[in-house]
This record gives sequence, structure tokens and C-alpha cells, in this order.
Amino acid sequence: MVPPAKRLGFDVVVLDPTPRSPAGQLADDQVVGGFDDPAALARLAARADVLTYDLEHVHLDALRALSDAGHRLHPHPDVLAIIQDKGRQRAFFAEQGLPGPRFVALDAPPTADDLAAFGGPVMQKARWGGYDGRGVRRLADAAATPMPVPSLLEAWVPIERELGVMVARGEDGAEAVWPPVEMAFDPETHMLDALVAPARIAPALRRRAEVLAAEAVDALGGVGVFGVELFLTPDGELLVNEVAPRPHNSGHYTMEAAVTDQFEQHVRAVTGLPLGSTRLLSPAATVNLVGAGWGPTRVQGLERALALPGVAVHLYGKDEARPGRKMGHLTVIDPDVEAALARAHAARDALRIEGGEL
Ligand code: ADP
Repeated sequence: MVPPAKRLGFDVVVLDPTPRSPAGQLADDQVVGGFDDPAALARLAARADVLTYDLEHVHLDALRALSDAGHRLHPHPDVLAIIQDKGRQRAFFAEQGLPGPRFVALDAPPTADDLAAFGGPVMQKARWGGYDGRGVRRLADAAATPMPVPSLLEAWVPIERELGVMVARGEDGAEAVWPPVEMAFDPETHMLDALVAPARIAPALRRRAEVLAAEAVDALGGVGVFGVELFLTPDGELLVNEVAPRPHNSGHYTMEAAVTDQFEQHVRAVTGLPLGSTRLLSPAATVNLVGAGWGPTRVQGLERALALPGVAVHLYGKDEARPGRKMGHLTVIDPDVEAALARAHAARDALRIEGGEL
């Protein structure tokens, strides 16, 4: 978000617990402090005309205090309160009449009786704190061992495709929707493997996905950019999985492939500027670049990856690599979406990000 904000003439101060954080390296200044440290938040707020956040695990009471004190803060903490609790989020969308899997939200860890009463197979989700598939477990039947946390139980849905729709919503309620993209997940880790834009689905289905995503964000009523994850079932039904109140992995492709990218759009939305065009300029594919070992970040193979046409590499500037940690991503644009996907995999295979001595 920092480079587009700078481009539009804003000064940016970042709060992050890690000195020289990825965003802090680019911003005018960084307040080093925890996301739930009221004193650090107050120091940040004292210097800012507009406040926003790009992760959902922020202390709600601290945000509420800032909002109540009259700071301009987007998205509103009430929106985050719904999203932080997967059980409450699911119930909210159900109340709004938006389609989703059958569910029950439990205040305690599920018991064998809970699982038997719900009927399997079940997708168990930690109500709080999960991300990137951490906090999600498939339970085949009542004999399976659940995670010992307050949980959302969902009917396990046969998924034909997972779609991502990025939606921007301005202070005036205007919405701008990027074309739906298709997400491929690693079946073991549930982490995003690759993303294909636009989704390889019929135009009418694309349109339905856009309308549903826009409805979900409109119901939440927040201001900013939102990532809406949808499931497409084999019989053509679309279900809302979840909404992220921020620029999202499934919107990174917009940096190369759309007229306005998700980060600039978020800055526009939260500062009250008009939203930009979400038109796709080219088909694209994005893959995450994850760490392969522990230690100070060392990147190998950049020359080979960048020798492939249409490859844009984004490294986040995280000082420490860890196995599975998201260290960056790369996007390939190509008029042929299959070629973009194949080249994205080739570029990822050429790159290795590990922890090691420099
Ligand atoms: P996270 O917030 O950790 O990404 P999600 O709720 O998005 O968790 O779930 C992670 C992945 O698990 C989804 O992308 C999907 O592949 C799978 N999944 C989630 N819910 C269901 C469900 N009800 N049925 C089948 N698969 C699911």
C-alpha cells in the first residue's frame, strides 16, 4: 500500500512490531510496536489523518478506542468484529440471506456428541485467529480428533472451484469489483498454490460471482478493499466462504494485470478519493513464494526467473525466512492464461528462498 500512497502524494507511517518491517522499509516512518499495544497505536494515530490496517488480527478494543475518539479509521471496527470471529461471520451472512454451507458455531471445543449431532464429514474451523489454512481441520466422522478450540463446524462442501473476488467500497457506498479469479489450493496445507485471472468459468457465472461478492461487502458496509472467497459446487451453486477486510492474496495479480491495483484502490477508498477502474488489462497467474529453510533470507535463481517473459517478482523484504512463510509472490501476464500459469510455475521452480548465511 505504501508505494501507491506515496505516488498519490501521501506521507505514510507504519506500525509494525518488527523493526525495518516490509512496509516500514518503504514508508516515511515506522512506529515499532505491537498491533494491540494501545500506546503504540496512540502514537501512530496522533500523526495520521487517516488510519487503516491490513491484517485482521488487530486488537478490536484498541481500534474501537481510536474510532470512538474520532479518528478516521477504515474499515470500521464493527466490520472487523464480524470478520474476526468465523462463527459470527458465518451467522451474519446467513442472516443477510447470502448462501453458505450449513454450520453451527460453538462457544467451546466440539465434543463427540456435537460432531455426531451435526453429522459428517465436517470442516472444523477455529473461530478466532486462524489464517492460511491454520485453524482448519477436516473431520471425517464423529470419531475424528477435533482441534481443542471454540469452533465453527461447517458441512464439508464438494468444491468444484474456489473463486476470489476483490471488491472495493468507498465512503459513499460506491463499489468497484474486479473480475473473479480462480484459486488452486495445496490439498495438504490448504495454502494457495496458484491463482488464475480471470477465472476459467462461463461469463454468466462470472457475473453471478461478482454480484454475490458485491452483496457480501455491501452487507458488511465497510470502506476499503475486501477479498471475498467463494466456493463453486459441482451443480453450479455459489457459496460465500469468507471475507478478508483488506487487500488479499487473490488480488495481487491486479498490480500487473488491472487498470487500478488493489493497493492503490484501498488507499483511494480510505482517503475518500474516487475508486479507479477495475478492468483487466491481461490474463495473469500468480504464485506465492514461500520460504524453504530457517534463517536470514537468501534468494537464489532470480536471474533464471526474470529471464522468463512477463514475470514480475515481488519480494517482501522479510529479513528472516522460515519453511512455509510467505516471502513474496510472482505474477506472470500473458494473453493466454494457460501459458501464464505454466510460466508462473516455471518461475517459481527456478526460485528458491531459504534461510542461510549470506
Ligand atoms: P483460512 O482463513 O485459514 O484460509 P478457510 O475458511 O478459507 O480458512 O479454509 C481454508 C480452505 O479449506 C479453503 O480455501 C477450502 O479449500 C477449504 N474449506 C474451507 N471450508 C470448507 C468447507 N466447508 N468444505 C470444504 N472445504 C472447505
